[in-house]
Amino acid sequence: MSAVAETFASRHGSAPTGVWFAPGRVNLIGEHTDYNDGFVLPFALPQRAVVAAAPASGARSRVRSVQEPGAAVEFSAATVVPGEVPGWAAYVAGTCWAFREAGYPLGEVELELDSDVPVGAGLSSSAAVECAVGVALAGLAGSRIGPTELARIARRAENEFVGAPTGGMDQMASMHGREGRLVFLDTRDDRVELVPFDLPAHGLELLVVDTRAPHAHAGGEYGARRADCEAAAAALGVAALRDAGPQDLERIGDERIRRRARHVVTENARVLEVVRLLSGGADPRAIGPLLDASHTSMRDDFEITVPHVDVAVEAARDGGAAGARMTGGGFGGCVIALADTDRVPAVTAAVTAAYAERGWTEPVVFAGTPSPGAGRLL
Ligand code: ADP
Ligand code: MG
Repeated sequence: MSAVAETFASRHGSAPTGVWFAPGRVNLIGEHTDYNDGFVLPFALPQRAVVAAAPASGARSRVRSVQEPGAAVEFSAATVVPGEVPGWAAYVAGTCWAFREAGYPLGEVELELDSDVPVGAGLSSSAAVECAVGVALAGLAGSRIGPTELARIARRAENEFVGAPTGGMDQMASMHGREGRLVFLDTRDDRVELVPFDLPAHGLELLVVDTRAPHAHAGGEYGARRADCEAAAAALGVAALRDAGPQDLERIGDERIRRRARHVVTENARVLEVVRLLSGGADPRAIGPLLDASHTSMRDDFEITVPHVDVAVEAARDGGAAGARMTGGGFGGCVIALADTDRVPAVTAAVTAAYAERGWTEPVVFAGTPSPGAGRLL
């Protein structure tokens, strides 16, 4: 029995009806393309949120998290609306609300949550919680709901209940992930294609470096980048930057807006090129230069990197990585580095040393292995 099922049983005196999980994710390439109707290429991590759940006996739902010590948070899943539940439980209550809004009946639930997805590191601990709750609610209700629809429900919880204006990549990756596969997502129509990414077969690892950099102004800067992209699309007369090509860029008069657009246009092209290479069976080392180019574009054109991520990327390359880039929304978070398995100690040592030299908090480095998407555990 998983630990969270035991916690549930000890608190309720009975076993949960079931245990469900949903993973965090890391994005291989395709940054800030999702709100431009573009392409992203994330994969599901082995780190996941796990939910033990059962129908509630009383008239209210009660939810707890192992990571949030304190009393259970109570609300009515059958009537809750945005604004009623603050804090961490908003991700849970919001998923209940969005589940109902999608037309599925919902009774009250007892829910125990546990997660090993690092919070606030850009690995989508929030989507993991929403998606784990979503699959649990569907399982309890006996509703057969496809992964894309559950991802939409989860995203709605984040956008409209929690109030975070994020794109749909995180929830789609958490729902659609597969072992040894990348989730190639066209955010215009939510079309998903699984792309092979069998790193062990090629003697490779994808290192994830959690820089633990302080997140400064990320929210405001995110909104500013979205506004710049909208301005660029308006200047070009296209519905979204997805519809623009490199030849269009010179028509944008404002220098900053042009650079923002250039990042999105070239990033979309890089995603498609990575997919073409990997789908065609190329050695994954071939994507290294595309990862590097993505980072340069985020640093110089989109201006969303900070010294902590730039230093980690450069150190990883100096240590022998085949390619490295920041992943996630920016202003901190994680860096990924593609490295030969026998180079992993050197890459890790180079990053750790670069941080130590500067007196920065030691980064956390782990292997990101493409893992299964959300489902039932027990
Ligand atoms: P991330 O990049 O990790 O998704 P967010 O700010 O989007 O960062 O989401 C983090 C928030 O999600 C936390 O502050 C908390 O409210 C909620 N959360 C994530 N994991 C848990 C958990 N295990 N238990 C309770 N709440 C969680
Ligand atoms: Mg999040």
